[in-house]
Amino acid sequence: MSFSTDIKEELCELQSASACCKKAEALGMLVFGRNFSLSDISFMTELNCVAMRYCNLIYELTGVSPVISYSKAGNHKVRIDKKEERQKILEFFGYTGKEISLSINFGNFENTDEEENCCYCAFVRGAFLVCGNITNPEKEYHLEFNISRMKLASEFLTVLNEIDLNMKTLLRNSTQLVYCKESESIEDCIGKIGATKSFFFLMETRAIKQVKNKINRRTNFEAANLSRTIEAGIAQIELIEHILSKIKLTDMTEDLAELCTLRLENPEASIDELGKMMSMPLSRSAVSRRFKKLKDIKEEIDKR
Ligand SMILES: [Zn+2]
Repeated sequence: MSFSTDIKEELCELQSASACCKKAEALGMLVFGRNFSLSDISFMTELNCVAMRYCNLIYELTGVSPVISYSKAGNHKVRIDKKEERQKILEFFGYTGKEISLSINFGNFENTDEEENCCYCAFVRGAFLVCGNITNPEKEYHLEFNISRMKLASEFLTVLNEIDLNMKTLLRNSTQLVYCKESESIEDCIGKIGATKSFFFLMETRAIKQVKNKINRRTNFEAANLSRTIEAGIAQIELIEHILSKIKLTDMTEDLAELCTLRLENPEASIDELGKMMSMPLSRSAVSRRFKKLKDIKEEIDKR
């Protein structure tokens, strides 16, 4: 089951407390459904719960019972059969059905109190139920609303702005896509439309991802450090073996001889560790200086 389906099922179980929000949610479903005009009010959905929510809301608000039929693919087609019923619904939401181009009738948002903004949130919930889609956050962050008309898409952005949700639009295959790819904005939207359980799931997924990324970064960093240490050790051993093929340990100063011995015995030790192993412990830079000295010795030997 897709993540979109999970959220939609969660939303369909929500009880709208206030009448104002029922109206706003129903408007979202009507306006963003397939058709909302005097000649046709209908929409399609794969989900029975969404079809039932649409029917219940319309019936509660207007007394009209939508009709559900099923396509061969198993989709639910919900429509209002009679013209006078369509007229009744259009009038209820302040439309004549003769509008040249459909727009959002903002007069339907009864509670636009900035603190609550309940009706805008309910409207976006209705829109999500009929034309929204979200990708599983474990794969990718992507939330979108498929809207058929450009004007509706830009008005929808206005509604989203009212509840501090910033999304973008994109034209794809002659539909307007209102979308968002930021994890926190997606969480925000899902929380605001009322899917609390999914909201927490999104937050949790993001937190787990962040921790995983941190661990990966650290592991990569440590692995890189380790391989640098080993490479340096190998180069130093080659250097020492080269020198010892020409001169004896006893020909070197005591501290250089001790360092060479320690390095040959501890090929994987870091410069720091080598310094600490010396009978007179040396700092990292003191050890480095001695390896520099060994390089000079090698160059001198090679010149001979
Ligand atoms: Zn409300």
